Amino acid sequence: MRNQKKLIKYHSIAVEEKILNYVEKAFHILDECNIKYSDRIVSITINNRLRSSWGLCRKKNINNEKVFVIELNQYLLEGSDNAVMNTLLHELLHTCYNSFNHGKTWLRYAVKINAKYGYNIKRTENCEANEVEPQKLFKYFVKCKKCGNLIGKTRLCKVITNPEQYRCAKCKGSLMVVGKTDTKIDIKNYHKRRLE
Ligand SMILES: [Zn+2]
Ligand SMILES: [Zn+2]
Repeated sequence: MRNQKKLIKYHSIAVEEKILNYVEKAFHILDECNIKYSDRIVSITINNRLRSSWGLCRKKNINNEKVFVIELNQYLLEGSDNAVMNTLLHELLHTCYNSFNHGKTWLRYAVKINAKYGYNIKRTENCEANEVEPQKLFKYFVKCKKCGNLIGKTRLCKVITNPEQYRCAKCKGSLMVVGKTDTKIDIKNYHKRRLE
């Protein structure tokens, strides 16, 4: 029996307990599905600097031993239970043998859990999948004119300044820049206003 409490490094006791509950639930699910996660997960922490992803799993070398470190976006805990579980399970699966990428093994596990528990573990973690308000995470958005797919960006990148040069990844529709309230905006004026 592993000591799960030791895994979680966070200052607030309330948050710590919240994460612990999720972690226990996730380990239980993996056990039930006969999915062997690594016994070398050394920490699961909240990372306040994560901007473009809901979670990540890193390999680290500590005393010549390969260990895993999992980090969760601070805003994730404001979302639904399912949102947290989708991300946490996604990252825990990366610690399984041959699953550090999103290849066949990883995908097989994700599909298995999704089918059994009704989760929605995906290869890429987008905002919709996690039901968390994207406004909290992103400064800029482009929206597909055809299917409504909303893409958030943390920085003013080329897809925001030149949306006409890009297409929706889902349906190939054309894109437009929208504001936080989802109204169409002129990006040049928008950015100027932000700087004022
Ligand atoms: Zn991943
Ligand atoms: Zn689209």
